Amino acid sequence: MTQAVSNRKPRWRTARRKELHAQGIVIPKKQHVFLVEPTTLPEMPEWAEKRRVKGFGSTPGHIWLMRGPARLLIAADHYRSKRVKVEFKRCVLCRRPMIAAQAEAYRKQLESGDRSIPCGPDCALVS
Ligand SMILES: [Zn+2]
Repeated sequence: MTQAVSNRKPRWRTARRKELHAQGIVIPKKQHVFLVEPTTLPEMPEWAEKRRVKGFGSTPGHIWLMRGPARLLIAADHYRSKRVKVEFKRCVLCRRPMIAAQAEAYRKQLESGDRSIPCGPDCALVS
């Protein structure tokens, strides 16, 4: 394994994660979602459509994907796709997807270890 690969995550971060995990605190992972716009493909491949992230609106020619399928689609498009990467988090209670600043704020709230935080006043499980 090369230095570059092993350095992808700082070691202190992994150590802190393990330490907190031992105390029963699960640090939420930072996730990203990608808005991909293929430029060389005549149409959106069916396999990509099937893996579209649900809960986002759709614009013709654009697709929201998680990292794995986004990479596959970009490769299929000969790395010519336009793409936007934003932080992504689903509400642990109602599964509502959040992106960007909202996702980041929610992830930071979860870092307290409290897994029962609603995503907002309109969280589906809050009555
Ligand atoms: Zn919610």
